Amino acid sequence: MLAAAEPLDSEPVALEHALGRVLAEDAVSAGEIPPFDSSAMDGYAVVSGPAAELPVVDESRAGHPATRALRPGEAMGISTGAQVPEGADAVVPVERVEVLDGTVTVPESLAGAHVRRAGEDVRAGLVVIRTGSPIGPAEVAVLAALGRAEVRCGRRPRVALLVTGDELVEPGRPLGPGQIRDSNLYSMAAQAERAGAATALREVVPDDPELTRSALRRALEDADVVCVSGGVSVGPHDHVKAALAALGVEEIFWKVALKPGKPTWFGRRGSTLVFGLPGNPVSAMVTFHLFVRPALRRLAGADAGDTRSLAVLDVPVAREAQRDQVVRCRLRAAEDGWHVEPTKEQGSHVLTSMLDAGAFATIPAGDGRVEAGEHVDVEILF
Ligand code: AMP
Ligand code: MG
Repeated sequence: MLAAAEPLDSEPVALEHALGRVLAEDAVSAGEIPPFDSSAMDGYAVVSGPAAELPVVDESRAGHPATRALRPGEAMGISTGAQVPEGADAVVPVERVEVLDGTVTVPESLAGAHVRRAGEDVRAGLVVIRTGSPIGPAEVAVLAALGRAEVRCGRRPRVALLVTGDELVEPGRPLGPGQIRDSNLYSMAAQAERAGAATALREVVPDDPELTRSALRRALEDADVVCVSGGVSVGPHDHVKAALAALGVEEIFWKVALKPGKPTWFGRRGSTLVFGLPGNPVSAMVTFHLFVRPALRRLAGADAGDTRSLAVLDVPVAREAQRDQVVRCRLRAAEDGWHVEPTKEQGSHVLTSMLDAGAFATIPAGDGRVEAGEHVDVEILF
C-alpha cells in the first residue's frame, strides 16, 4: 500500500503555519547558534585568573555589545545573553563578587567559565533537520532559531470522505425508525485532520448503485485519497466495489486478516488512492489508523517511522484462530514500561471502546490466549 503512495509536491509554508506539516527540504544552518560567545549569567566579564580587585570599565548588555575590548586587569559588567567582550574569556556571576566604588572584587576564575561558545548548539553549514521530518513544536522552534520565516513542506493530501448507508442520519437531525447516527464521517474527518490531511469533500451516500457511482466519481475528481466507509462487503446493498470497478479504480487488495477490519478494500486510479473501510464505527477508526494514516503521512512526505512499541498485557485475551486482533486498550506507565488492558468489551459496533484507548494492542492470530504478563505489540495513539 505504501508503495502506491508517492510523496506529493511541496510548497512554501510560513513558519507560523508549519506545525503538523512535513519538512520537504533539509534545513541547513546559515550561521552558528549561538552566533557569538555570550554570557550564561549576569555578572562580570574578566580575563580568567586568580582572585583580584578590578576596575569596572564598561558594560555589555543583551543586544548592546560593549564598545571596547577588555584588557587584563579590568572587569566589565555583563548580562545573560550579552556578547562576551573581545579579550575576556570568563564570566564571574554577580552573586560571587563584591562591588565598591567602580571596582569589583572577583574570586579565581577558569577560562570558559559561564561562557556559551558560539556554535555550541549549531555549527554553520550543517543539516539540522532532515527532509521528511514531521514538524512539531521543537522543529518550529529550531527553524525559528535558524532564521527561517518560511520552509518548504509537503503538500497536505486532499481527502474525500464518503459514508454509505440508507440508515445514516447526521447529528442534529431526529432519528427515524431503523435509523442510526453517522459517526464515520466525523471520525474519518478528525483522523484525517490529525494525520495532516485536508478534507476536500464530505458526503453521505444512500445505498443506491447510481448514487454511489456518481458520488465516487466526484470524489475521485479532485482528491489525492478517497475514503469511503460501509458498503464494501458482499451484501445485496453493498455497491462500493462495483462502483469503483466501473470508475476504473484498480483493486489492489480486498479483505485483511484483521479483527476488526476484515472487509477493508484498497485500490488506486492513477495516483489517487482509494480506501474502502468497513462501516462498523470501530472498524472504520481502527483501519483508518492502521492503513489510511500511514498512506496520508507518506503522501505528505513523512519518513516512515516505526510507530510500534511493546507493552505488558495486564489481563488474558483469547486469540482469534485466523485473524490478528486489534484491541483498544487503556495505557498505563509502570516501572517496567507500558502496560495495557482492554478498555471494555470489544465489539466492532462498540464505539465507546475507543474512549480512553491510549493504544491499540495486537493479539496475534492463533489458538488459546495471550496470558496476563506477556508482551504484545502496541500502537500508541496520540
Ligand atoms: P456496512 O459495512 O455498510 O455493512 O455497515 C456495517 C455496520 O456499520 C452496519 O451496522 C452499519 O449500520 C454501520 N455503519 C455503516 N456506516 C456507518 C456510519 N457512517 N456511522 C455509523 N455506523 C455505520
Ligand atoms: Mg451499509
